[in-house]
Amino acid sequence: MDVPADNTMVPKDPKDTALNLTTAEIICVGTELLLGQVVNTNAAYLGSRLAGLGIGVYRHTVVGDNHERLQAALAAAAQNCNLVVLTGGLGPTDDDITREVVADYLHLPLRESELAIRDIEAFLAHFGAEMNEKNRKQAVFPEGSQVIPNANGTAPGCLAEHDGVTYLLLPGPPAELRTMFEAEVEPMLAARSATRFESRVVRVSGIGEAQLESAIQDFVDNQTNPTVAVYAGYGEASVRLTAAGVEQPAVSAALEGLHSAVRERLGDHVYGGEADSLQEVVLSAMECQGLRLAVAESCTGGALAARLISVPGASRVLEEAVVVYSNQSKIRRLGVAADTIQRFGAVSEEVASAMALGVAQSAGVEVGVAITGVAGPGGGTVEKPVGTVFIGVCLNGHTAVRKYQLPGDRDKVRRFSVTFALELLRRTLLANGKKKPAAT
Ligand code: ATP
Repeated sequence: MDVPADNTMVPKDPKDTALNLTTAEIICVGTELLLGQVVNTNAAYLGSRLAGLGIGVYRHTVVGDNHERLQAALAAAAQNCNLVVLTGGLGPTDDDITREVVADYLHLPLRESELAIRDIEAFLAHFGAEMNEKNRKQAVFPEGSQVIPNANGTAPGCLAEHDGVTYLLLPGPPAELRTMFEAEVEPMLAARSATRFESRVVRVSGIGEAQLESAIQDFVDNQTNPTVAVYAGYGEASVRLTAAGVEQPAVSAALEGLHSAVRERLGDHVYGGEADSLQEVVLSAMECQGLRLAVAESCTGGALAARLISVPGASRVLEEAVVVYSNQSKIRRLGVAADTIQRFGAVSEEVASAMALGVAQSAGVEVGVAITGVAGPGGGTVEKPVGTVFIGVCLNGHTAVRKYQLPGDRDKVRRFSVTFALELLRRTLLANGKKKPAAT
């Protein structure tokens, strides 16, 4: 970083500091966050990035644009932590108060930074705009702090150190915050933290949350380092394992042992790791087996197709997806016999089977998947209450159907249905892969 011409901000080499940052508090500033107009994604982002640097997050706080309350939040944070990360309130308007409040709290005067002025002018020049008085306000920082350039906006950040506590002032807009954090702030913080954290995620499907927890209960009960945490979603779950330590090789070794043990315990419920999604795994298994797919959806209305198509390159596997909502469309589009619907009902094993076969045949592909169910809130009967869903998978003309009784409202039933369809397809592909002779 350049030394500003006025020399009021003296940038410090992070390695010069004796600080070892161990514990942080995140303070998000903005009345819009308190009112629920903006979801506080910055806190989640910062929490996970700080953990990755080995800095434990003690607390998240949200404060409105209010001088006294922000001062009080700063005082509370500085008592517990040696890193206080603030986001928001660095803009040009009068309600952007973070710089002033931090300077007041630290009893430091605000000084204009030549470096910040140049950065702001350069950013505005991209848009043919010139610096005005409001923008100039964004170039003042508590004396002695280190200015952090903002590649995506006009609000530079800053790092100030006072009485053994490091204060980081970062912009509120998530795109500005993330770029600044990863490009500028992380190297500064990594050099000041002795602890290293590493984590691995095991993603599972086809197993309920309670069943999952009991399957790995001994790991959960005995956890100290690494820690084991279970997160459940709609028909899917993940287990996050996190190890901490000072020496990176020891951290990795501790994590690796537990990771293998958990994967082995959960067997073929495991479909991947942190970066994987069920739809990616299914599509790639189909591609490996040289299979193409067509899907027919009733109650999910295209949600399965949307999940599949969210994967880049899905067209290598997915031939066609149709929403067949009415009885007529199931008959006309997929060749389901009117008599089958009449006898068994549109939500039935027989219709799900005929839909899966019909969509595969009409698209001319090896695999067809079909979903038909009662998503609610109306339409349920004693025999087929809301949440009754049939999912059919047809592979090379052989069809298997499973019946599900899913919990929750319309939205939940539809989400669960999509995940269970992907899971049933994954299981079919696993079995099919095992049948195939090994490649020579
Ligand atoms: P700028 O002047 O560049 O807009 P700023 O630092 O003053 O930055 P704010 O004015 O506090 O930032 O917030 C600007 C916008 O950034 C908010 O309207 C909101 O959309 C988003 N934002 C702010 N804080 C958060 C947060 N904690 N999580 C997610 N988004 C946020």
